[in-house]
Amino acid sequence: MRGFATNAIHAGQEPDPTTGAVIIPIHPSSTFAQDGVGELRGGYDYSRSGNPTRTALQECLAALEGGRHGVAFGSGMGATDVLLRSTLAPGDHVVIPHDAYGGTFRLIDAVLAPWGVEHTSVDLADLTALRAALRPTTRVVWCETPTNPLLGIADIAALAGVVRSGPSSRPPARLVVDNTFASPYLQNPLALGADVVLHSTTKYLGGHSDVVGGVVVTSDDELAERLRFLQNAVGSVPGPFDAWLTLRGVKTLAVRMERHSDSAERVAELLTGHRAVEKVFYPGLPGHPGHEVAAKQMRRFGGMVSFLLAGGRAAALRVCAATELFTLAESLGGVESLIEHPGVMTHASVAGSVLEVPDNLVRLSVGIEDVEDLIDDLRTALDAAAG
Ligand SMILES: *Cc1c(COP(=O)(O)O)cnc(C)c1O
Repeated sequence: MRGFATNAIHAGQEPDPTTGAVIIPIHPSSTFAQDGVGELRGGYDYSRSGNPTRTALQECLAALEGGRHGVAFGSGMGATDVLLRSTLAPGDHVVIPHDAYGGTFRLIDAVLAPWGVEHTSVDLADLTALRAALRPTTRVVWCETPTNPLLGIADIAALAGVVRSGPSSRPPARLVVDNTFASPYLQNPLALGADVVLHSTTKYLGGHSDVVGGVVVTSDDELAERLRFLQNAVGSVPGPFDAWLTLRGVKTLAVRMERHSDSAERVAELLTGHRAVEKVFYPGLPGHPGHEVAAKQMRRFGGMVSFLLAGGRAAALRVCAATELFTLAESLGGVESLIEHPGVMTHASVAGSVLEVPDNLVRLSVGIEDVEDLIDDLRTALDAAAG
């Protein structure tokens, strides 16, 4: 079996048989000529149902997660919606992390709940709580690790064991891991016992903040069949240019994740030693809850770092306003460094709920610029916040 970086560059992407083009073409065609009625030349008839550029992306991402099937969507939420509707029906139950991605919580709470799907929020670091939350009707246990924005860690192999031995009758509950924060370079949930992996490819996989997309990877043939059916039936597919941009980004994923991890470690070290900072959240820090689990199931600790300011909300807002290289913006996982205040920005919609985050919290997506420049920028902003 080939290595990760080799697959990232070559899986699903043989040179074009007619022209020899090394890079997979962008196929904008919405329809495909047939040799006779119903006689398809290359297996394609209409681009919502299938497109060669999208196929290349799906095969590549499936290889990177070690799964048999990849199914790509127009966004991470499009992927989440189709995955949940492939696995849940009215009357079914889903367990979600108490700090789930806000869009995932909104989809389950505001779209699937009125349709008749029930949900329970639990802290997935607490296996006893998970066991207690499982019902005979539980079809999905949704996991994110590391979580957003506090970088909480769940033990994927342990969760898989609990889900498998749970009370669910047929069909069995599935463990789904949203692997967006780690990327497939750092963590492969299927190998740890998960049934399904999902990514917002908008983040590390695309990696350049220039495309929105999502993917679901699984080795479950029956589920993949259902996902492909709904992908076409619902039509939330990525366009060929989006698929191509994502493929282009993926080629450098291995080197980018090494650099993100190197620089985030340096940033976590700076923050830990700075008087303006009350607490640092980074899975690579030995004192971080779940550090041992992260060290066991992740190759490195990734590029996301969060921290609490000793000076409260005002200090947090001052730091966000004071950085120059770290751009004030939502999203994450691109080559450029970003800073944000989750309480006002990404997590504003969960204020007052169990998902509410501290108002002195700042989240960083550490990019791959020169780390000395990043450190200088942050130190200057923190000094200003400390007064
Ligand atoms: C961004 C994100 C999503 C949603 O993906 P979109 O591409 O924005 O639709 C889901 N999960 C996590 C962890 C994310 O960061």
